[in-house]
Amino acid sequence: MLLIITLSCYVLVNAQTDLQKAEALIKKMTIEEKVGQMTQVTLAVVAKGGWGNQDGALDPAALKKAISDYKVGSVLNTTAHALSVDTWREMMTQIQDEAKKTKLKIPVIYGLDGIHGQTYTLNSTLFPQSIGMAATRNPELAAAIAKVTAKELRASGVRWNFAPVLDCGRQPLWSRFPETYGEDVYIGKTMGAVVIKAYEEDGLKNPTAVASCMKHYLGYSAPRNGKDRTPTYMPEIEMREYYLPQFREAVKAGASTIMINSGEINGEPVHASKYLLTDVLRKELGFQGLIVTDWEDIKRLHERHNVAATPRQAVVMAINAGIDMSMVPSDFSFYDLLLEAVKKGEVPMSRIDDAVKRILVLKYKLGLFDNPYPEESAKSNFGKAEYQTLALDAAHEAMTLLKNQNNVLPLSKNVKVLVAGPSAQSISALNGCWSYTWQGKEEQWYPTDSKTILQAITDKLGSANVITTTGKGFDNPLNFDTTKIPASASGVDVIILCVGENAYAESPGNTRELALPDEQLALARAAAATGKPVILVLTEGRPRFITSIEPSMKGILMTYWSGKKTAEAIADVLFGDYNPDGRLPFSYPKSMGEIVLYDRKPTEEIREVFNDNVNSGYDPLFAFGHGLSYTTFEYSDLSLSSPSISSSTKLTVSVTVKNSGSRDGKHTVELYTRDLYASITPSMKRLRAFQKINLKTGESRKVVFTLDKNDLAFVNAQLKTVTEPGEFEVMIGDKKAKFTYK
Ligand code: BGC
Repeated sequence: MLLIITLSCYVLVNAQTDLQKAEALIKKMTIEEKVGQMTQVTLAVVAKGGWGNQDGALDPAALKKAISDYKVGSVLNTTAHALSVDTWREMMTQIQDEAKKTKLKIPVIYGLDGIHGQTYTLNSTLFPQSIGMAATRNPELAAAIAKVTAKELRASGVRWNFAPVLDCGRQPLWSRFPETYGEDVYIGKTMGAVVIKAYEEDGLKNPTAVASCMKHYLGYSAPRNGKDRTPTYMPEIEMREYYLPQFREAVKAGASTIMINSGEINGEPVHASKYLLTDVLRKELGFQGLIVTDWEDIKRLHERHNVAATPRQAVVMAINAGIDMSMVPSDFSFYDLLLEAVKKGEVPMSRIDDAVKRILVLKYKLGLFDNPYPEESAKSNFGKAEYQTLALDAAHEAMTLLKNQNNVLPLSKNVKVLVAGPSAQSISALNGCWSYTWQGKEEQWYPTDSKTILQAITDKLGSANVITTTGKGFDNPLNFDTTKIPASASGVDVIILCVGENAYAESPGNTRELALPDEQLALARAAAATGKPVILVLTEGRPRFITSIEPSMKGILMTYWSGKKTAEAIADVLFGDYNPDGRLPFSYPKSMGEIVLYDRKPTEEIREVFNDNVNSGYDPLFAFGHGLSYTTFEYSDLSLSSPSISSSTKLTVSVTVKNSGSRDGKHTVELYTRDLYASITPSMKRLRAFQKINLKTGESRKVVFTLDKNDLAFVNAQLKTVTEPGEFEVMIGDKKAKFTYK
């Protein structure tokens, strides 16, 4: 107890000290120094050769111009691709050396996008994208990989991670869907909060921690037309129900920084929204940390959104709305314009001081003033062997078995297989965006021991038992040649067809069509036509429609983009060395006209007369939460601690789960609730809790959940989060029970 009190006093005193130090420093700063702190430039601005730079060499004159002349407070990004740990450390040292030459010696804060592992350091360990981590339903695992990401960033001398992505993935067309935790609010809230704590909770001065950056606030993931950085139209009730809770939870979890949505909501660019940045984020959510723009987004208020008639007006709008730091990032225009605006009285000095205070507090919290250089002790945390094991654990748990007709899987290791399809010899299609390059497509930067699916299968069966029609690289024309399939399949027992998406990030990932491309569907048809059983392996970041080929596939495995060990995890599942336990974090739609999410409203559920005799309006190919195992789990004895719950009591819900099959296995027990009648049409079901358990064959376990009124709440017409009295249903597996909230 004493220890806890002492520790919290220490934290309190320390936090105050950081704030006091920041305030004292601000008093010594010129306006130029303040505006410089608010400026963030990309590495290309200070690297030799700019964007073309390949080796991390900095240009001393450019560095001096940025750090000494313009007094820039922050740098981000890489130029062309990932660099070695030593190169990063050397670059960080040179940048901080330059900062030491300035009058006030304010250290620079460097930021990178380590969204599924440390993206931009060569030989870092990459883990599943967030969509795959959501499928694991395993927050402890998510926390463990976040910790490794923090360590590998810090080993590279970088103390600010632009992660996690908290955008809710409810628009499957959106090219950043793979970076999300899927369509459910509760999963997003839970995963986001544990990841932030893992990044930050050791205390940011500790060389195993980095500052997190929740992004992209707010409504970024719901562009009406599906294209990245295009308008969202969203009533506030929807925003508060599905998109805001993840950020509210992340603020509570202690996130130090936030990045803003590059798009616009209801015609208002979020970077210019005083309501969202100041009223909601600062005042309502109580966020005290640093608000950074996304890429070029202040300029774009003028250049793209057309809400600011001049570049200076754009700066004035954004800073007055509440932005603290501008990711400019390719020049110093922001610095010049903000200086001009302050001198003209268009931005009050109090707003500048407020922004600079938040930036300096973060730098103090991170220990940058004590030692801005890459710590020696941090370096040994890079590339530990155990990270590979963790990467395999995470990839295993992400694997989601969607179909297993007549238990075709797992396959025996005595079979002969034909491996076909564009993902079979692709590394990038297993890792996706932000993998050693922004787009993740350039395979020369991946670790040399990265395996393809073909290699991992060959490791299991021996090369004599594996035939392939494929060539290296996703886009290799060989991969799409259907004519070789019949002859190649003639001597094999089974065809493993690896299709899906190659890596993409942001706008380059925009697509006009969610169906799997025709040339891949043609491969599936050719494979099925051989009469051999076909196992479809989907390496993709978002659901690509497979409705027309699904009936002729005997087994379907969804792998997402699961990082370094994706291929090994796939082979382990296919050949029974791992019993799959992933569950879909989104509804896998049949077609464009069938995009209905699992937490649908009653009128989406009741389908009025349709010609196709489908009774349910929620009719995906595979439902949210779907995921098969090689064993079976049975539920019994659902019981409630009381028939009712009040605002001051809790309800305990328990259920017994039995592994009734013949293999040990992990399983996620999901608890959903339904409000039977409410002032706002209630959802048919909402996920409120989950627990992942590990059961040996024949073993039973009682799983206990505790709910309170907040778990039953929704946003009402007055935009208040409320729980209304009435009847509720709780659903776990095939069991249901009712209770009342009084
Ligand atoms: C992305 C952000 C990212 C930033 C810096 C932007 O294009 O939208 O998610 O953090 O670049 O790399």
